[in-house]
Amino acid sequence: MSNEIDGWGPATLAVRAGQERTQEGEHSEPIFTTSSFVFGSAAEAAARFGGDEPGNIYSRFTNPTVRTFEQRLAALEGGESCVATATGMAAIMATCLGLLEAGDHVVCSRSVFGTTTVMFSKYLAKFGVETDFVSLSGLDAWEQAIRPNTKLLFLETPSNPLTEMGDITALSQLAHARGALLVVDNCFCTPVLQKPLELGADIVIHSATKYLDGQGRCMGGGVVGDSKLVGEDVFGVLRSTGPTMSPFNAWVFLKGLETLKLRMEAHSRNALALAQWLESQEAVERVYYPGLKSHPQFDLMQRQQTAPGGIVSFEVRGGQASAWKVIDSTRMLSITANLGDTKTTITHPATTTHGRLSDEEKTLSGISDGLIRVAVGLEEIDDIQADLLRGISTL
Ligand SMILES: *Cc1c(COP(=O)(O)O)cnc(C)c1O
Repeated sequence: MSNEIDGWGPATLAVRAGQERTQEGEHSEPIFTTSSFVFGSAAEAAARFGGDEPGNIYSRFTNPTVRTFEQRLAALEGGESCVATATGMAAIMATCLGLLEAGDHVVCSRSVFGTTTVMFSKYLAKFGVETDFVSLSGLDAWEQAIRPNTKLLFLETPSNPLTEMGDITALSQLAHARGALLVVDNCFCTPVLQKPLELGADIVIHSATKYLDGQGRCMGGGVVGDSKLVGEDVFGVLRSTGPTMSPFNAWVFLKGLETLKLRMEAHSRNALALAQWLESQEAVERVYYPGLKSHPQFDLMQRQQTAPGGIVSFEVRGGQASAWKVIDSTRMLSITANLGDTKTTITHPATTTHGRLSDEEKTLSGISDGLIRVAVGLEEIDDIQADLLRGISTL
């Protein structure tokens, strides 16, 4: 890769970083659908296997299309190394397998993706890694939960669905003062809106399935950080346990990345317009969106992000019956829990993504029966509003 990359801005990196043309002179990135690579001689094979000579061996280890995606995502996040994974969950799992061992302790935000909670509390617990869950925005709670054996602090910001924010700078200082690493799942913001490594985080996690693809086509993930933690420790896990990204998916994500900046800005514009409009609706009791001045952490959002993102949640009066009425009255919005798509999606968290929580846990995490989450897509804002108004106007 050329050295010019150092001075490039995010839109340029998203279009060009990581590409090395083959002798065919192709303009668009090629897809290398090959499981293995051929050596010129027995000696070359031996040198590659022995690690004495760089180069491809087998696509579970490295693949040129996957590497282009890794280099582009690393450049966008400002990290030395990136390892691409089969899914976002595989990125979190590989990070944990690479950086933790039995007897270690993790402090994790209570407001992370549900499956992440299951991974920590059920599966990592089986192998002797204990996790405590704390309130995302309560810095004191994080500090009190840290023990001498705490290795990782893990969070997502803004949270899903209530858009609560974690202060990445403050948490990274806390982690480092206590000898731990800060891991940020940057799925909702992407590097276009938030650069956790610049704010002090050690590792950034992605579910590429969401905004990096942005068009709902493929599953994938990535881990970004320095060349030791990610380039050696996490890469070693991928090489030996196998949840690698397929070259075809890497190619789809490369094409997704090329429009990432345009899309994230457009998602944020649409979401802000929708949130402001929802605040003016009488049947809407509360709107959760970090781009609103009414958001309790509006200042932190302005310090930490370049735009507020695409997720808006709101509470309608009348509880579950009203929320379901709004959802079932839509004709265009997609009733699905996925997010980060050009198509706007609508969800009732209390009975879907957060349905397994007890009533007490729901109250504690602020998931009320009247809460609706909208992952705002790229349709015309007037059409999104009209589709929601069909139900809201009847309440
Ligand atoms: C979806 C999601 C994941 C998991 O990603 P998959 O690609 O579905 O495995 C992790 N973190 C966040 C914040 C997510 O939204």
